[in-house]
Amino acid sequence: MVFNQLLGMFSNDLAIDLGTANTLVYLKGKGIVFREPSVVAVQRNARGEQNVVAVGKAAKDMLGRTPGSIMAIRPMKDGVIADFEITEEMLRYFILRAHNRKTFVRPRVVIGVPSGITPVEKRAVRESAETAGAREIYLVEEPMAAAIGAGLPIKDATGNMIVDIGGGTTEVAVISLSGTVTSQSIRVAGDKMDEALVQYVKRKYSLLIGERTAEVIKMTIGTAYPDEDNQSMEVKGRDMVTGIPKTLDITSQEVREALMDPINTIVETVRMTLEKTPPELAADIVDKGIILVGGGALLKNMDVLLREVTSVPITIADDPLSAVVLGAGRVLDDIELLKHATIAL
Ligand code: ADP
Ligand code: MG
Repeated sequence: MVFNQLLGMFSNDLAIDLGTANTLVYLKGKGIVFREPSVVAVQRNARGEQNVVAVGKAAKDMLGRTPGSIMAIRPMKDGVIADFEITEEMLRYFILRAHNRKTFVRPRVVIGVPSGITPVEKRAVRESAETAGAREIYLVEEPMAAAIGAGLPIKDATGNMIVDIGGGTTEVAVISLSGTVTSQSIRVAGDKMDEALVQYVKRKYSLLIGERTAEVIKMTIGTAYPDEDNQSMEVKGRDMVTGIPKTLDITSQEVREALMDPINTIVETVRMTLEKTPPELAADIVDKGIILVGGGALLKNMDVLLREVTSVPITIADDPLSAVVLGAGRVLDDIELLKHATIAL
């Protein structure tokens, strides 16, 4: 007993949620050790070589604010690995940081990846984990990890539907007997909402705002479905006509209008996936409902809208931002899951 606890304490095994917006790392025996934005800031020198100057939160704060020579990059922005080199750098940085940059016994690493990942992207993930010192590498599709993390009975012969609304992608999957029965991955999620809001404010008020500002507005007063509570908040941007900074008020009703297109695309994908689900599993889902995870699950009334459209009960996972990494962490501990719930490298 005590011996096992000690072993757990000294374990180097890691689970990583390599998200398009946020990367979370779980250290076996310790839990989630950190969560950071999936952003890398690089500086290009005169010879065209790139140097990493910041990773994570520090790099995210630089988005939209960098001088010419520095670029803040989101290497996984659209749900795929858009920039291999930077993704590798980022993954390596996170793995080393999880171990406090101390030397360590080569760990086993479970990494959650988007379900639409290509063979080339898989290889990039594997190779960067290897150069960072990983001994055994397992990939688990994010919806599967999220379902495990949310505590769904994925090993049973019963249908579980999981909807993961992240930054770059929304993933919808039906899982049964530790396997994915149907799944859909679309490149419409939180980022597209932010972009839609930028466009809306530009069109309606000739005001230019950054995507970071749009994200804050979305998280503060955004809603997916109307309710009595029409809040408003101050927005600062640059007037496109006069060119000088301007402040105005925006209401949650306006934000909902702005987010309508991306939200409808997400809802439609859920509806279509339900339609394509084999009848016995669809019946399970009607009974047990859909589990919502990812940061987009926190958009106010997203659950209400989905319930309205699908007529299926909707539950937001306890900690929607952590479900994937917690699930990947459970895969580390469970030989059976390690064998059956992971995908071929
Ligand atoms: P990923 O798995 O792709 O890294 P996350 O699950 O971490 O993404 O979710 C990030 C997305 O969730 C971002 O687009 C962010 O703006 C959005 N988000 C986070 N909190 C909220 C909130 N309270 N309301 C609306 N959107 C939110
Ligand atoms: Mg995610």
